[in-house]
Amino acid sequence: MNTDKELRTRLQRIHRKSYPAYKDLKGSYRFPGYILHINHVQGDPFAAPSKLSVELAQSQAGFPEDLFDKKYKRISLQDHLIRIFGKELSNCSFHAGGSGKSGLMSISRCGQEVLERTALVMDKDRVLARFEVGFPANGRSINAPELEKILFRYIPECVKKALCYKSLDPKRIRSVVNLAEDQYFIRQELAKRNLVAFVANGSVLPRESGVSDKPMKNAVAFESPASLKTDLSLPHRGKLAGMGIPRGITLIVGGGYHGKSTLLKALERGVYDHIAGDGREYVITDRTAMKIRAEDGRAVSHTNISAFINHLPNGKDTVDFSTEDASGSTSQAANVVEAVDSGAKALLIDEDTSATNFMVRDELMQSVISADMEPITPFIDQARTLYEKMGISTVLVAGSSGAYFSIADHILQMDTYRAYDITDKVRKICGIRAAGQTNPGSAGTGQASAANNIWSQEGRCLRVGRLERRHDQIKLKQFGRESFSIGRETVDLKYVEQIVDTEQTTTLSYIMRYVAEQLEKNPKPEIGRLLSEVCRYMEDHGPGVPGKQAGQPGNLAYVRPQEIYACVNRYRGFRRK
Ligand code: ADP
Ligand code: MG
Repeated sequence: MNTDKELRTRLQRIHRKSYPAYKDLKGSYRFPGYILHINHVQGDPFAAPSKLSVELAQSQAGFPEDLFDKKYKRISLQDHLIRIFGKELSNCSFHAGGSGKSGLMSISRCGQEVLERTALVMDKDRVLARFEVGFPANGRSINAPELEKILFRYIPECVKKALCYKSLDPKRIRSVVNLAEDQYFIRQELAKRNLVAFVANGSVLPRESGVSDKPMKNAVAFESPASLKTDLSLPHRGKLAGMGIPRGITLIVGGGYHGKSTLLKALERGVYDHIAGDGREYVITDRTAMKIRAEDGRAVSHTNISAFINHLPNGKDTVDFSTEDASGSTSQAANVVEAVDSGAKALLIDEDTSATNFMVRDELMQSVISADMEPITPFIDQARTLYEKMGISTVLVAGSSGAYFSIADHILQMDTYRAYDITDKVRKICGIRAAGQTNPGSAGTGQASAANNIWSQEGRCLRVGRLERRHDQIKLKQFGRESFSIGRETVDLKYVEQIVDTEQTTTLSYIMRYVAEQLEKNPKPEIGRLLSEVCRYMEDHGPGVPGKQAGQPGNLAYVRPQEIYACVNRYRGFRRK
């Protein structure tokens, strides 16, 4: 391997040459304490910055193994180090100057959620951090002394301050890992106690504004109703009380503006862990919970939506249903069946974003329009089956219709941001007996065998046409968090609301490309099998796609199976095999 001296020599050699001469720097160099990899060099000073990584042996980095000996600890530690390293890089960013992106230094920007990312990975042998640097230029000619400053002064300083355990505050690091351990503990408790979610007393659920994910200041802190109060004893924090939302069907009712959607939003995000100070650190939801909403105009490809839609007027098949432009109800039906297919054990629904005709049909309407004229079996008629036969719970915000009272196991009322359990009161008023009280049959074991085949997406063999390529690779282009294009098709993820980070969208675009490549090759391209392979890969190896371990890009973040299914199912280019 080359040494840092060799790098210095090369730098001197290319000073003032035209920008592409920077490509000569590609390679790995041994610095005191770490290896610097220059993986990709940008084509000009205005292009996307160059990709670098530093690799430290644990003998240099020195992180005690008990800080990362469990996956959940490792992920939170990695996340924390990205934040610290990012702060150090940003302190030096643009200190070296020049045209375009000259002097930029950055790494993945983390939000309120803790996500596994390729930007920084740690194991017992090493720490690897992937980041970006804008190689400096004057106009289009190389400014080597400025890059020398970055590579020989700024980066070593950042590495020392952020990636070496002995320069970090050990108490702070420990508290990050302890929080992860407490959060993991709560997740385990959900399963043991048959809960969909836990919302700790004192949690701050509302956000600062519609565009900020930071906690609202002076918000009313969450407080559990006595009947649902759940006492936990966390390994580090100790005693913590909060509301346990039991499995089954839970209704959240209340007047407008009383905090219903805010509670549901917090539950949606609770599939991820949050950083200390977020206000939702102890809001923990079943990892597989999926937000379900109407999404007019979404594409549906060869999906069995017969659980909800049947005998359409145009005679269209709903066991193998496709459309380029779904209606409110068909899109929401597709969203439910694809969540079920992805293994979701809880559905989160807000009437604000639902299609009314998908949710309910009132009695008057039923008496006017006979059942055989109505293609839609509303969700209310399937919700109990979903729970009892398949163990899939529902948490539903419903402010305007009492229809769901009769099938709910628990009814919460939000009143000026406080939660009350009004289950008994509602039953008394409406003369309803307890709805469920049934346990999920075989569902407790996660077996969907009792479900009949209206829910099955098995044997779905799809093919993709030939996709546009560049340098032998299918073309991808990303548009922020909300969408990406592959070949000529755009995959719209705007309403897949539990995607919280642009790097998740990047990962999904890579997965979509992998899926398309596999389908092109495979004579019997069963999509279900392919997706479970991709999901398994991500659980075992972190963000990425099978077969691409070496040269992993540094801008990928973890996505759940739920988002993978949602993404692939929104691709418009599928044809039936
Ligand atoms: P609903 O769905 O019941 O109509 P929302 O959840 O949309 O109500 O909340 C209405 C408003 O109240 C939002 O602006 C939200 O930020 C604010 N809000 C929600 N919860 C709280 C709280 N605990 N403390 C203070 N403000 C809150
Ligand atoms: Mg609302």
